[in-house]
Amino acid sequence: MVKKVLIANRGEIALRVLRACKELGIPTVAVHSTADNTAMHVRLADESVCIGPPPARDSYLNIPQIVAACEVSGADAVHPGYGFLSENARFADILDAHKITFIGPTAEHIRIMGDKIEAKRTAKRLGIPVVPGSAGAVTDDGEAARIAEEIGYPVIVKASAGGGGRGMKVAKTAQDLSMALSTARSEAGAAFGDDAVYLEKYLEKPRHIEVQVFGDGAGNAIHLGERDCSLQRRHQKVWEEASSPALDQEQRDRIGMICANAIAKLGYRGAGTIEFLYENGEFYFIEMNTRLQVEHPVTEAITGLDLVHEQIRVASGQGLSVTQADIQFAGHAIECRINAEDPETFAPSPGRITHYHMPGGLGVRVDSGVYQGYSIPPFYDSLIGKLIVHGRTRTECMMRLRRALDEIVVDGVKTTLPLFRDLVDNPDVARGDYNIHWLEKYLARRS
Ligand code: ADP
Repeated sequence: MVKKVLIANRGEIALRVLRACKELGIPTVAVHSTADNTAMHVRLADESVCIGPPPARDSYLNIPQIVAACEVSGADAVHPGYGFLSENARFADILDAHKITFIGPTAEHIRIMGDKIEAKRTAKRLGIPVVPGSAGAVTDDGEAARIAEEIGYPVIVKASAGGGGRGMKVAKTAQDLSMALSTARSEAGAAFGDDAVYLEKYLEKPRHIEVQVFGDGAGNAIHLGERDCSLQRRHQKVWEEASSPALDQEQRDRIGMICANAIAKLGYRGAGTIEFLYENGEFYFIEMNTRLQVEHPVTEAITGLDLVHEQIRVASGQGLSVTQADIQFAGHAIECRINAEDPETFAPSPGRITHYHMPGGLGVRVDSGVYQGYSIPPFYDSLIGKLIVHGRTRTECMMRLRRALDEIVVDGVKTTLPLFRDLVDNPDVARGDYNIHWLEKYLARRS
């Protein structure tokens, strides 16, 4: 087993990883910026090291400081959480060079999946269904027009280096295409320093369905079913559920096995998520994330498996604790991402939490790094906690979610709780009848 884990993150995910380490009896090192001196993960860790001033590029993204923190604390492994350095291949390489275990996949696999064109090519080669589109980057507008004609309008122009929904432009007709290409290229160049773009068929009413996979790095892999993350605002997930209300057991097994086989063939190590758009009964690969995801607890709720335990086991060379045959899916789970934001405008609302009360009871889990009296700093994302509710059926889960949302008190800052209290009573949401555009349309109608 790894002997001491440095957690290169903050907020709820730092605490989540810390809890798994404690359960496994592994000492932890928290790193933090000067803005996070009073953060819960810093208080609860066995040791802590301040790695710089508030801006993330000077602290949570500061590789030399994090490596130095490993050396002074004697940590022999790093868990990167999500965001920050979690999908940075250079970081994985540097840790390797220092003989520190990166709790995640190889740098090579991070690199392949971080380049969307390369990721799509790899997915296709491994037997995963992909969205019809250009075979690689498109540099010539005439060639792009021919490809678009072939796949049929509307098409979407996407940045190879893209992330966070940036560098994407839809062209409804041939007239829009050259404008979409030039806008996407310049956005991608400015945001990522790489203006390579490619073309895809634009799917009009898909759901976002992703499959959780796990590999042991030695050619064995499993899938843990899917999550439906179709309720999004500006490409950011707001509400996630497992299983998807749109799939039956046969579809679940089929796409799950396609993903597990692909991951086994790749020799992938650790946790990963294969993201699809799903429309008219078909799956279309869009990207793979080579890390733990924010919404992983819904998968934990229906499988009973602790994904961070598995990550640590695999990184320690002990392999997975389960085989595919051991995985049983039980009940239904929903996660709400509670942000410190104005529920109408979604403007960030940092500040001091004056009253704080979280719900409890059967099937209720709260993953949060905040507490009463805590001041939310303005430098980072606005996620303050996740409410995860589990029930034997989706109906029971929704009843429990409604009750849990009623119990929560967060005063002093604005939060997105009122939005969830509305959503849980919405008839479309109750039926699971929504796609990736539903929430934006709902919010537009409401205002
Ligand atoms: P990013 O890495 O920037 O998040 P993704 O490739 O994961 O980019 O796509 C983000 C979102 O953009 C998807 O969840 C979906 O809403 C939309 N999108 C991407 N590709 C397509 C497509 N071919 N058709 C329709 N919508 C798409």
